[in-house]
Amino acid sequence: MTLLVRAGLLVTGTGQELQRGWVLSRDGMIVEAGSGPAPKADEVVDEPNCVAMPGLVNAHDHMYQWATRGYVPDGTLFEWLRALYPVWARIDADVVRAAARAAMARLLLSGCTLSADHHYVFPSGQAGIFEALVEAARELGLRFHPSRGSMSLGESKGGLPPDSVVEDEDAILADTEAMIGRFHDSSPGAMCRVVVAPCSPFSVTRDLMRESAELARRHGVRLHTHLAETLDEERFCLERFGRRPYELMEDLGWTGDDVWYAHGIHLNDAEVDRVAKAKAGIAHCPSSNMRLGAGVCRVADLLRAGARVGLGVDGAASNEDANLAMEAHQALLLARVRATSPSALDARSALRLATRGGADCLGRDDCGSLEVGKCADIACFRVDDLAHAGIQDLVAGLALAPPSRAQTVVVNGRVVVRDGRLLTADEDNIARELAATSARLAG
Ligand SMILES: [Zn+2]
Repeated sequence: MTLLVRAGLLVTGTGQELQRGWVLSRDGMIVEAGSGPAPKADEVVDEPNCVAMPGLVNAHDHMYQWATRGYVPDGTLFEWLRALYPVWARIDADVVRAAARAAMARLLLSGCTLSADHHYVFPSGQAGIFEALVEAARELGLRFHPSRGSMSLGESKGGLPPDSVVEDEDAILADTEAMIGRFHDSSPGAMCRVVVAPCSPFSVTRDLMRESAELARRHGVRLHTHLAETLDEERFCLERFGRRPYELMEDLGWTGDDVWYAHGIHLNDAEVDRVAKAKAGIAHCPSSNMRLGAGVCRVADLLRAGARVGLGVDGAASNEDANLAMEAHQALLLARVRATSPSALDARSALRLATRGGADCLGRDDCGSLEVGKCADIACFRVDDLAHAGIQDLVAGLALAPPSRAQTVVVNGRVVVRDGRLLTADEDNIARELAATSARLAG
């Protein structure tokens, strides 16, 4: 089965921008790319009014949070978490399925083709939550890296979450290993890879962090956690462990090219260099960071130091949308505000964070660019609509005026969005189910 995608302008993600460029894929992988006369194919998608680019990559998310959007609209991270933990304690597989379908539909419709998800709430007695995430991705056609998250440090032991939402550590490790065995696919072009992801320094023990790292490395899977998101977290780590958050990661074996962190905001100069030297990744989540007033990630400094930097929408409870193009836009503006200089991050670099940068964080050298031998994951954005018509630099325009919807999206050589509509599920039905689920959870 071959698919040809042709566009007004093809951005390969390797520095080439080709007028009337095209990409030919066979069985999900790109076999030829070029411009001008195109080869024949079983299926042809021609979008002369679009810019086609590598599918966007979401490096940090909590999809279940689509069922709890709009809570604590003006709180800090810790205030927001304390209010939401008791609501999250009531989630089950049905809630997670409805929320994940909404999250994934929105991501696909905005041009995202590869997404991580960090799921760390497993209320006792509720089976099938992780499975619901994996099944939703299969149904909707999203390339997916579900992270088996965890919380084990409850309030009674000095942690932030109430005891009702934490799990036993042996059970966490056993279930994580079981999920790797069932769903992890290490082969090139994989549609599902499992990640090991204890939640944060204030919700898990040091023992669980160490053992999780050992488990992940035994199975050759990646590690992910929240790091240096707020100054409250920094104070917590200094008081409880006598360590800054990144120092704690170094103590626990949580550094290296198989680790990526969400946020990485409050890093000092030496830590920025150490993150880069370790080849660890940072998932920058500008909308969430601004919504929670968490701080401003040092994206330009991290890039200069050589760190891997991707973008994440974060959970929808702290960013009521999931649009990677909007995150590229926010990242561009925020980097310039931080530096008081427009040269801090240019538009193409911002889009690179949303594509190749995220793929680097997720350890996907087969995603994030449109080249022969890579996955056929492609997003096409209209540039003749009211929002973009006449913009001089079409590529910069996608970062300066982020599209809310893609015209065509291809994942693994399969068209999943066409004419701005999801082909794999009914968008209105997903929205109705999400509204009912959110209302039920609110009680
Ligand atoms: Zn997060």
